[in-house]
Amino acid sequence: MNFQPKASHFVNGAYIEDANGAPISCVFPANGEEIARLHSATPEIVELAVKSARAAQTQWTKHTGTERGRVLRRAADLIRARNHDLSWLETHDTGKPLQETICADATSGADALEYFGGLAASLTGEHIPLGEDWAYTKRVPLGVCAGIGAWNYPTQIACWKGAPALACGNAMVFKPSEFTPLSALKIAEILIEAGAPAGLFNVIQGYGDVGAALAQHPDIDKVSLTGSAATGAKVYASAAAGMKHVTMELGGKSPLIVFDDASLEDAVGGALLGNFYSTGQVCSNGTRVFVQSGIKDRFLERLIERTSKIIIGDPRDEETQMGPMVSARQLEIVEGYIAKGKAEGATLAYGGALIDRDGFFVQPVIFSDVHDDMTIAREEIFGPVMSILEFETEDEVIARANDTELGLAAGVFTSDLTRAHRVIDRLDAGTCFINSYNDAPVEIPFGGMKKSGVGRENSKAAIEHYSQLKTVFVRMTPVEAPY
Ligand code: NAD
Repeated sequence: MNFQPKASHFVNGAYIEDANGAPISCVFPANGEEIARLHSATPEIVELAVKSARAAQTQWTKHTGTERGRVLRRAADLIRARNHDLSWLETHDTGKPLQETICADATSGADALEYFGGLAASLTGEHIPLGEDWAYTKRVPLGVCAGIGAWNYPTQIACWKGAPALACGNAMVFKPSEFTPLSALKIAEILIEAGAPAGLFNVIQGYGDVGAALAQHPDIDKVSLTGSAATGAKVYASAAAGMKHVTMELGGKSPLIVFDDASLEDAVGGALLGNFYSTGQVCSNGTRVFVQSGIKDRFLERLIERTSKIIIGDPRDEETQMGPMVSARQLEIVEGYIAKGKAEGATLAYGGALIDRDGFFVQPVIFSDVHDDMTIAREEIFGPVMSILEFETEDEVIARANDTELGLAAGVFTSDLTRAHRVIDRLDAGTCFINSYNDAPVEIPFGGMKKSGVGRENSKAAIEHYSQLKTVFVRMTPVEAPY
C-alpha cells in the first residue's frame, strides 16, 4: 500500500519538500502499516506558505464574489466526481470505514464548497441613511487565515474552514493533523484545478509546533482550530497576543436525554449514531446518555442487542460498519478510560475487549450505572465508549446535563413536543438536536458554548467569522466645527 504524495507540502500551487523537517509517518490504522512518510514544515516552509498566501489574497480579493464562488463550485464538482478515490484515501488515512467516508467526508467538503461558493456573490454591506448624510458598510476579508485540523474528519475540516475563508476573499494556510496528513493535499490540488490562484490555499504538514508557529505568525490574521479544549486554550492565548480573529471548534462531553415517552428505536438509533459513528471519534458525540428510569431497562436491552450486531472489520470492506481507532495512542487512551470506568464502579454492560487482529481495534463499550462524578462521565474520551446515566425528573436531568465546563452539543428524545423545546432551551450547548443526533448539514451553524469553542462553522453564521465590517460615514452637509 503506497499513498505517498509527490511531496509533503502544497505551497504556491505546487508540491514542495524540505527533508530537514521532522519525519511524519502516516499509518493505515487497520493494520499499522506505513502508507506514506512525510516531513513536518521547517520555518522556511512556514514562511513561504504565509508569503504565498498573502500574495494570492491580494489578487483574489480583486475578483468579484461571483468569480470566487465559481471556483469553489467547480472544486465541489471535482470532489464529487472523485468521491470514490478521495474516500478510499480518507479510509486509509483515518481507518474510518469506506461505508462512512463515501457519504460523510469528501461529500460534506463538497457541500461546504458549493454552499459558500453560492453565498460568495451575496456578501454585501448596508446603506444607512442619516438625514442628508449617510453611511455604508462593506464586508471585507480578514486577510490570511490559518486553519489547523484534527484527525477525525480531515477532508471535511479542510473544506469547512477553507470554503468560507475563500468565499469571503481570504487566503488560507492549512495544517492538517500529523495523524492524517494526506487528504488536505488533494483539496489543495483540486482548488488549483478549479481555477484558484497559486498560493490561495496552501497545505503544510506538521506537529503542534507548526500549528503554534502559524498561530503566532505576525502575518496571519485569523486562526481557525479544530482540536481539543487544551490545545484551544493555547492557540486562543497566542492568537490574542496578536489580536487575531479566532474560530475554536473544540471538544465536548455532550448530553443525550431520553425521556420515558421517546420512541425506543429512534432513541437507541440516536445513541448509537451519537457514540459509535467514526468509532466514537466525533467531537459532538452524546456520550452522556441520560435515560429516564421508566424506559431504562428496555433501552439498555435494545441498545446492547443492536450494538452486538455492529460489523467491525477491515474498513475497506463496504460491509464494515466500524473500523479501528485512528492511532495506537488513541487506542491506549480509550483503554485507559475503560479501565477507569470499571475501577470507579460503572457496570460494563457491553464490549470493551480488544479485537484479535492487527490494527488499533476495540469493541464498542456501553457502561451503565454511571454516576456524574465518574471520570468517564466528566472527561472527553474520543472513542466508542457510551455512558448510561439514569434520571427521574426534567429539572434534575437539565441540572446534571449542564454540570460540565463543555457545551458543544445536546440532544433530547421525547414525543412531547413542548417538553422537547422547553428542555433544549435550558441546555447550555451550541448545537442541539430534537429526536435526532449529530446531523451537520452545511446550512446550519455548528459550534460550541462554554469551553467547547468560540465562533461557528457552516451556514451564513460562518461569514461573520471570516470577514469584517468596514464602516464609511459620508457627510453631504458642511462640517460644523465648534472651534
Ligand atoms: P489536538 O488538540 O491534539 O490537535 C488538533 C490540532 O492542533 C492538530 O493539528 C495538532 O497538530 C495541533 N496542535 C497541537 N498543539 C498545538 C499548539 N500548541 N498550537 C497549535 N496547534 C497545535 O486534537 P486531536 O487529538 O487532533 O483531535 C481530537 C480533539 O478535537 C477532540 O477534543 C475533539 O473533540 C476535537 N474536535 C472538535 C471538533 C469540533 O468541530 N468542535 C471536531 C473534531 C474534533
